[in-house]
Amino acid sequence: MTIAKQRKYDVVVVGSGAAGEAAALTAAENGNRVLMLEKGRTTGGSANYSEGIFAVGSYLQKEKGINVSGTAVLKEEVEYSKYKADARIWRKYVDSSAENVQWLSDEGVVFERVQAMGAGEATWHIYKGFGYGAIHTLEPKFLKLGGELLTSTSAIDLKLGDNKTVTLRNEATGETEDVQAKVVILAAGGYLNNQEMLAKETNYDLSRLVPVSSGKGTGDGLRLGWGVGGRKYGTGMAMLFGGYLKDPDEPSFKMMESQMNTAAGQQPLLWVNQDGERFVDESVIYNFSYAGNALYGQNEVYSILDTSVIKKMATEGNYMGLGVYVERGQIMDKLEDEIAEAVAANKPFIFKADSIEKLANQMGVPAGKLVATVSQYNNYAANGVDNQFGKDAKYLAPVQEGPYYGFKLNIGAFCTMGGLRVNTANEVEDNNGRVIQGVYAAGNDAAGLTGDTYGPNMPGTCAGYAFYSGRNAAQDAQKYLK
Ligand SMILES: Cc1cc2nc3c(=O)[nH]c(=O)nc-3n(C[C@H](O)[C@H](O)[C@H](O)COP(=O)(O)OP(=O)(O)OC[C@H]3O[C@@H](n4cnc5c(N)ncnc54)[C@H](O)[C@@H]3O)c2cc1C
Repeated sequence: MTIAKQRKYDVVVVGSGAAGEAAALTAAENGNRVLMLEKGRTTGGSANYSEGIFAVGSYLQKEKGINVSGTAVLKEEVEYSKYKADARIWRKYVDSSAENVQWLSDEGVVFERVQAMGAGEATWHIYKGFGYGAIHTLEPKFLKLGGELLTSTSAIDLKLGDNKTVTLRNEATGETEDVQAKVVILAAGGYLNNQEMLAKETNYDLSRLVPVSSGKGTGDGLRLGWGVGGRKYGTGMAMLFGGYLKDPDEPSFKMMESQMNTAAGQQPLLWVNQDGERFVDESVIYNFSYAGNALYGQNEVYSILDTSVIKKMATEGNYMGLGVYVERGQIMDKLEDEIAEAVAANKPFIFKADSIEKLANQMGVPAGKLVATVSQYNNYAANGVDNQFGKDAKYLAPVQEGPYYGFKLNIGAFCTMGGLRVNTANEVEDNNGRVIQGVYAAGNDAAGLTGDTYGPNMPGTCAGYAFYSGRNAAQDAQKYLK
């Protein structure tokens, strides 16, 4: 029995996330014989968890009278990346973004609204049923057009030639097989789940990095692309997602739904380091990637919540809308129960005490220093001025009612971005800047969108780019195939 139905394809797509599904469907719509490979048992990758995608000038924004300048976005993103992002890639992405939303909508993807996230612009097009809904709208169309999808099947090797040779491995049986393809589109989602690659390609302290993703981004696309001479470019960054609680007994993504996690790691409340000192204006969390950088600057970080702050968030609402909490003031009705359960279960990330001294001792930070920090912070709150870091007075909630809670913050990460140098057609380039004919990279495997820090100020740019670039690669491949 063979793994794939045919020996020869026009297009083989490696990965079935946002980039892979968009590429595969587009290539099938263009009349090609397409094989989409997915190494997991299920399709969708990390895209399944995404909430929405970036666009400017979309029909939804027009309906709402939202006017965001594409050139302003481009300039800001390129500046933000310290000119490591590619302005030409941004230009084409920005200019195609409204059409990208329209295409998805025409294919049946339902967009519920468009909004900002945190401090950002209203560029985030929220799809119904998360990315899962979008992926599972595109996929049946692909299959209906005769596209072939193999799950539990990895691409493990790629060789160049007039026809490329892709070696497949059935993950259930270990069996391998070669197929031929004129075009290969690498869309395997980056390397967040490959510890060895993270250690080599990034400077993050991996003991504190909490990958919150599909778990399948093991860098295969980059390895295949580099293996055929693709230029390594733009590695070194993950999309950091602010403070995150690490529960050794549960899969990391479960904390995404936890109000306790949001209260501890995603609100502009008091944070201290291993020395019991504040180190930043905590409202940096408005940009969760900046917050990740700030947290990484310290050896350890604890978020300190007192009972009155917890009660306030549980009854009157949070301090800052972010991610799942899209609006400021949303009520955290499960917060108190979740905290009580974590304390009862002796979870290693939570500390509870009836005085600040005792809390410090439990956390292992100098008690005198923490007492002084809290006292100074309470003075700032009383005066409505943060003389140290200038945090807005509305976030200066005093720490004064016991019991007190300390939460050890690690750093969440959603994905890596970058690794293969591509041009504006998503063709992979070699070390001399020449195109490797018929080899494309899309989504998180492609470099060009970021410097060392993701820009959530224009929300949705990562998943938006994945859908767009998959489609962009397949459209360019059509010219190549002709
Ligand atoms: C919780 C969460 C929320 C997010 N929210 C947003 C958001 O709202 N907006 C936004 O812009 N971004 C968001 N992101 C990021 C976004 O989801 C990703 O950037 C996007 O999914 C990238 O798409 P991709 O196709 O490159 O990779 P993925 O969607 O991860 O897909 C890659 C696929 O390739 C498969 N694969 C890997 N290796 C192989 C191989 N050798 N052979 C075959 N298949 C292989 C994987 O199993 C996976 O299914 C979020 C991410 C997470 C985790």
